[in-house]
Amino acid sequence: AVASGPAEWDGSGSTSDGHKVKVLGNVGSPADARAAADAGAEGVGLFRTEFCYLDAEAEPSVAEQRAAYAAVLTPFAGKPVIVRTLDAGADKPLAFLSPEAEPNPALGVRGLRVAFDRPDVLDRQLAAIADAASDSGAEVSVMAPMVATAAEAAWFADRVRAAGIARAGVMIEIPAAALSAKEILDVVDFVSVGTNDLAQYTFAADRQLGAVATLNDPWQPALLRLLKLIGDAAKAAGKPAGVCGEAAADPLLARVLTGLGVTSLSMNAPAVRAVGASLATVTLAECEEIAARVLNSPDPVAARKTARGADAG
Ligand code: PEP
Ligand code: MG
Repeated sequence: AVASGPAEWDGSGSTSDGHKVKVLGNVGSPADARAAADAGAEGVGLFRTEFCYLDAEAEPSVAEQRAAYAAVLTPFAGKPVIVRTLDAGADKPLAFLSPEAEPNPALGVRGLRVAFDRPDVLDRQLAAIADAASDSGAEVSVMAPMVATAAEAAWFADRVRAAGIARAGVMIEIPAAALSAKEILDVVDFVSVGTNDLAQYTFAADRQLGAVATLNDPWQPALLRLLKLIGDAAKAAGKPAGVCGEAAADPLLARVLTGLGVTSLSMNAPAVRAVGASLATVTLAECEEIAARVLNSPDPVAARKTARGADAG
């Protein structure tokens, strides 16, 4: 079984037949970044910048942001790091960017939507990220949270490039974005799937509510069918598609995601080694075969079972 798979991993994410899948860290602080680097992460797939400011009363200056970001980027000099612009609102309110009271904050002005009203805040953050990239020597890309349409993605990518940052991407966390993956990939350099929010919005089930947690199971075939759309669109475009939600931290599901066309997996530090080791023991063709069976499963229990069965046999 997967749980008894080898604990060793050579630190370079790939299947046993050499298909590259980057194994990356999710970070929100300098301590997280050190932990991810120590765990062997090949880079950072998600730097949650809003975690730096959960207690901030006022918008931090560009100089303050530059120093905070550089402290996180430094352990990854020479390595790829995806910095996410502020994901304020809903479960992560920021005092200096909170919208008016909303009846449904998860469906309200959050993530990139905040920047449409306050592009000045986004531009200052992008300037600070560009400065921190050159301070640290990390290979920095930037992505936006909570993007719904290709037009929003294009608006964001233009601002990123105007700030002198070479690579612009967006998160796919809204079903409409998954269904528009092709059009989105036409205007950005990469996408990264936030499965926590994509599950929440696909199943109309609050990610913070235990009573609906079984709907937010990342093994739900309906969620994985959206991931297949995204993986297929990325393959056709020849551009990377990562996963940076909790789904990426499950060593068995990592094989399914690889089979669906995902090109990087980003997770909290403790999962890095087990995911790297899990991928190293299967071929890409085996991942694709497991993924096809999982997509045809009626529910998450059957999906897990068929993936485990493939591992045993
Ligand atoms: C996600 O939604 O899956 C994600 C990675 O972003 P966050 O958990 O920070 O909303
Ligand atoms: Mg999210």
